[in-house]
Amino acid sequence: MYADIIIDISVENLDRTFQYHIPENFEDSVTVGSKVNIPFGKGNRKITGYVVGISDEAKIDVTKIKDIDSVCIKDISIEDRMIELAFWMKEHFASTTNEALKCVLPVKRAVRSKVEKIILPAVSKDVLGVELDLAVRKHYTAKERFLRELISEYDDGLKYSLITEKLNILPATISSIERKGLIKVESKTVFRNTLGKAADDAEADNDAIVLNDEQKKISDSITEDLKNGIKGKYLIHGITGSGKTEVYLSVIDEVIKQGKSVIMLIPEIALTYQTVKRFYKRFGDGISVINSRLSAGERYDQYLRAKNGDTRIVIGPRSAIFSPFDNLGLIIIDEEHEGSYKSENSPKYDTREVAFHRAEKEDAAVILGSATPSLTSYLLSKEGRIRLFELKQRAGGAELPAVHIVDLKEELKQKNRSIFSRKLRELMEDRLLKGEQIMLFINRRGHSGFVNCRNCGTVMKCPHCDVSLTFHNPGKLICHYCGFEKEMTVNCPECGSPYIGTFGTGTQKIEEMLNREYPDARVLRMDYDTTRAKESYDEILSKFSNREADILVGTQMIVKGHDFHNVTLVGIILADMSLYQEDYRSAEKTFQLLSQAAGRAGRGKRSGDVVIQTYNPGHYAIEAAAVHDYGRFYDEEIAFRRLMKYPPAWSMLKVMLCSENEPELLKETERVNMFLKKETEHINNCVNNGKITGTEREIKLFGPSKAGIYRINDIYRIIFYLKGNDYDMLTEIKDKLMTLPVEHKDVSMQFDFNPY
Ligand code: ADP
Ligand code: ZN
Ligand code: ZN
Repeated sequence: MYADIIIDISVENLDRTFQYHIPENFEDSVTVGSKVNIPFGKGNRKITGYVVGISDEAKIDVTKIKDIDSVCIKDISIEDRMIELAFWMKEHFASTTNEALKCVLPVKRAVRSKVEKIILPAVSKDVLGVELDLAVRKHYTAKERFLRELISEYDDGLKYSLITEKLNILPATISSIERKGLIKVESKTVFRNTLGKAADDAEADNDAIVLNDEQKKISDSITEDLKNGIKGKYLIHGITGSGKTEVYLSVIDEVIKQGKSVIMLIPEIALTYQTVKRFYKRFGDGISVINSRLSAGERYDQYLRAKNGDTRIVIGPRSAIFSPFDNLGLIIIDEEHEGSYKSENSPKYDTREVAFHRAEKEDAAVILGSATPSLTSYLLSKEGRIRLFELKQRAGGAELPAVHIVDLKEELKQKNRSIFSRKLRELMEDRLLKGEQIMLFINRRGHSGFVNCRNCGTVMKCPHCDVSLTFHNPGKLICHYCGFEKEMTVNCPECGSPYIGTFGTGTQKIEEMLNREYPDARVLRMDYDTTRAKESYDEILSKFSNREADILVGTQMIVKGHDFHNVTLVGIILADMSLYQEDYRSAEKTFQLLSQAAGRAGRGKRSGDVVIQTYNPGHYAIEAAAVHDYGRFYDEEIAFRRLMKYPPAWSMLKVMLCSENEPELLKETERVNMFLKKETEHINNCVNNGKITGTEREIKLFGPSKAGIYRINDIYRIIFYLKGNDYDMLTEIKDKLMTLPVEHKDVSMQFDFNPY
């Protein structure tokens, strides 16, 4: 028998299978998915690989086929299904096979589980009593102490660590007692608990929620389908606070009753203590939670729990889509519009598409949920490919907040140069007086935007990237792209002038201004810089939730999913910051951000206010968000996408060439350009000449052009965009590009379908 093996190194020109002979003694242990050790190359270097196929036919000269060395039994073997998924991803999103395999196998290496040793008596109490007497007489004090403990805990046994650490008894002593046959030491695997504090607190409050009519209708429809064996795709469009999570919980109940498993995806940023607590309250230890802060060991335990069926519900961010369930029944993607569902590493997969694919292969249902669905998903629902449900009311009867749009141009005319408009100031003072809480949102961390010399205009830039440095307190200039850091300059490096100014506003500056203007108010700040420590994220949120602060200032981290009942005012300092990013989705992102931020206000009994500060009060994304009108936004936005042939109207492929070597990069760019021109002309001509009938394939090529930021981390980047009315046409072009012979080794090529 022969095995097709993928080499475990991410080198693109090794991106193919190699055939190896399976020695007879391994024939039982080598299956598709096994990880094996093999000799590779001329020197027969020992490396590992994955078996992706088995056959009894040699594809090359038999004498040239090498033997598999051994099978890595301790390592997890990927199931066939996951390998299939990896191959589909490799093709659909463009990556090497190895990258795709690593992606579906979140744990690459077995890590030793945490093992707890227990000492149990192996003889009767009486025999131990005799031994104890003996030890007392001979003054074996350690042994005496040990035997006394063991006799008193005869039924439960003793924790090994307790004996060695608390009773100060040496492992050697225990071993000698074990050798005499008086005790036995047993090891028990303890799964690391990843739920943390949420699990401990979960029992505290247990007021059961009864679904309201809107929620019940949705839950009933989906569970009805499940009972009838229909595995549907659903989109729940429910305004913030409308009780989507309660609907998920009740559908999950049904799936669990059917003996199936559930993958519940939540963006990491919304995967908070509060959320986990709700799931734990309902499903107890049956859930397992995955997040990026888990150690390798913790991750491995969760993987095993899912694989062994010890857990039935995995909750986590996008990588949880690869949970190794055998009996998947349901995938839920909450906040489905979130950008984090698109992977930024190769394969640059879209989690929603992976979910649809996996669900189809494994006969599971999919529920997407959002207050502001992505254009892509909403279009699918309009086309009838996903069933749409709506939740129009806030659960528990809370009111939607009143939204005030403040025109900053007008503020300036009225001589208000402050970051805070008069309206925002008035409402903030009102809330501080009443003891209600405030959230202020700004889309930039750090203190200010950029720093320049007021004498000669020089902007302080990162030496490795084409971006300006951001000023951070105290006295640091930081690059947000590569992390480069240096001391704030006192004098201009160009002209020596001491007049160095900062422009723009970030979270730190808002915090500073609040402390100055409202010295009695307690202010918390939440952004990348204050949440880098493992627990700090939950800490800030729980402080705010316990009303240990009056104002929470933060980046988009604060607008997602949190449910603070005492917040009655949300201020958006500058809505325009997300509106003018060079991204065809910037209006969509702005609408989402504003709607989500607005959704934070008035979640409790009191209604709330939202203040949106902007220089563009008339923009449709801002106006629609202010009146909570998704439909209006969608109509405007989809018309724009159709007009401009942007996704989801058309499909798009980004081809990026990267290199540290600029001349090589430019040569390669020319070559790729010629190729793409020829290919696209060919496709378009076929249609025009009527050679291919019944197809109306159309493709447009844009570029080459320098990336928005040409150089990041000393790497230059050139971009091509292809827009086509057919996704498969783009994957065909990608396949051809990948087989172009390499001429410039220093240049790498990356693909991104429907890029963000
Ligand atoms: P969403 O996920 O749509 O933002 P949640 O499920 O978090 O909404 O619900 C918002 C708030 O309303 C939560 O505090 C939740 O406990 C409460 N809630 C949800 N459904 C009900 C209900 N049927 N009756 C009373 N309160 C509810
Ligand atoms: Zn200067
Ligand atoms: Zn940089």
